[in-house]
Order: sequence, then structure tokens, then C-alpha cells
Amino acid sequence: MSRPRRRGAAALPDPALHTPERPTWRCAAGCGDWPCAPIRDHMEATMAPLDISMVMAGHYQRAAHELDLPPTEVHRRMFGWIRGPSPLDPPPLRTDLRRF
Ligand SMILES: [Zn+2]
Repeated sequence: MSRPRRRGAAALPDPALHTPERPTWRCAAGCGDWPCAPIRDHMEATMAPLDISMVMAGHYQRAAHELDLPPTEVHRRMFGWIRGPSPLDPPPLRTDLRRF
């Protein structure tokens, strides 16, 4: 008897294959720019958005030094695909505060 599989688990890629090659930040599996679609799918299926943001924050620091791209472009590449609020987003503007 086999263990029950998590729904959709069979379709998830092996994350060990989709690692960033440095300093180019291309996927080691040949998918193109990292984070590639397979690793993004894997992280979205297995991690909460906050946890993804924390992991990507570490990658962002290294990528910002190694890629010849504007920091805003590196930021978009590392965080722009994460669904839900990011701890790196600015807080929402409060419009309900009274002026004294
Ligand atoms: Zn890949």
C-alpha cells in the first residue's frame, strides 16, 4: 500500500534541479532566468507567501550584487511573482487618521 499523495504533488518539479547558477542567475536546469516558472510553482505550492518572501530576500541581496541590472529590476524579478502581501511592500497609507 502506498502513502497518499498530496494533491498535485506529482506535477511539482524537483526543486534541487532548479537552482540559480551564479553569478548569471540562470536556472541550472536550463529554464532561463531564475527564479524560473517550475521553482516558482514549487514554492507557491509548498510555502506561504511570507516564507517565500524571506527566502527570496536572501537571494535578492546576492543577485543585486551579481547581476548587472538596476536594483528595481532585480527586486521585480525576485519578488514580483509572489502572490499576497510582501513584508517588503510599503505599509498602506492611512486615510482615516485625524489631523490634530
Ligand atoms: Zn528551472
